[in-house]
Amino acid sequence: MVNGIVFRIERFAIHDGPGIRTTVFLKGCPLRCAWCHSPESQSPRPEFMPLQDRCIACGACVAGCPQQAIAAPGAPTRLDLCRLCRTCVDLCPTGARTMAGDEMPIESVVAAIERDRIFYDESGGGVTVSGGEPLMQPAFTEAIVEQCRWRRIHVAVDTSGFGDPDALERIRPDLFLFDVKAIDEERHRAITGVSNRVILENLARLAARAARPEPVDVGLRTSDFGHRTSDSELRTPDSGLRGSTGSPRPERVDTCVEGRTPDDPCRIIVRFPLVPGLTDDDANVHDIGRLVSSLGIGRIDVLPYHRAGMAKYERLGRPYALASTEPPSPERVAHVVKVLTEHRLTVGVGGT
Ligand code: SF4
Ligand code: SF4
Repeated sequence: MVNGIVFRIERFAIHDGPGIRTTVFLKGCPLRCAWCHSPESQSPRPEFMPLQDRCIACGACVAGCPQQAIAAPGAPTRLDLCRLCRTCVDLCPTGARTMAGDEMPIESVVAAIERDRIFYDESGGGVTVSGGEPLMQPAFTEAIVEQCRWRRIHVAVDTSGFGDPDALERIRPDLFLFDVKAIDEERHRAITGVSNRVILENLARLAARAARPEPVDVGLRTSDFGHRTSDSELRTPDSGLRGSTGSPRPERVDTCVEGRTPDDPCRIIVRFPLVPGLTDDDANVHDIGRLVSSLGIGRIDVLPYHRAGMAKYERLGRPYALASTEPPSPERVAHVVKVLTEHRLTVGVGGT
């Protein structure tokens, strides 16, 4: 059994890949992007994210904590004493005491995924593993991907690309959503806290992998790009191999790559966060367009900066560095789209 730390499972997501999707957000990220709208994703451990305005100072959490880690209602938790048992979360009558991140077995994730299967089939959607950074939990990510593919559910992995190349090699989704923020290494280090060398190497590696024909599992995808495989096309092995939740595991059958469209020839969509003052200058946009095009990747999505995650910083007790940064204007977004189009890329805005 494989367990992972999940901080949210979002149903009916429409910006994390094609169609209607269930997005599984994994905890832990090595980057510290100033514009991150999921700061609760960054730490690999579960962490408290209180809603102080809901606290009625009843003291249930204080009295119930077996570690005496809470001195008084609303007081910071003594993390050196806390064992993350969640007793206080369960005792809180108002939902004020919340925690981001929960250890989940793969079976629970698969059960959540299966719940909305009909919507994937109807919309050409599926599942996206996101974060945080999925490569921080490579075995769990690999397990989710495998489980989806066994079930013919289209699966995407949304990654910063910062991770172990060997782990990346083992993870075989239908689609990678791959973030590229900046090409210049020093700039990248300044805005994310890490070098982009391994990211760009991983992107080149994935592009090379996607460009060469590889065996795929017939019947292991849903209607991701218009192709739909009926149940009768599936061959269930006599051996009765099963996924970890007990569903029949289809036989692997080698064939040529299918299910791709002209605007997604490599099953990679690059995602570019457009952040005023940090990534939006023409030099950076041209550099990214040039690189993506040179790797044979046909599609890039521009993700305009927004402030949706600002309130979460307050709940976590952290400063928000971009409080005075405005979202890019529609004119600026249109200009960036035009620049990228000059590099012969299909350009989307706001995610697929
Ligand atoms: S999670 Fe458990 S140990 Fe930690 S503060 Fe809450 S009750 Fe105490
Ligand atoms: S249990 Fe909830 S409402 Fe009561 S003091 Fe603790 S955080 Fe506040």
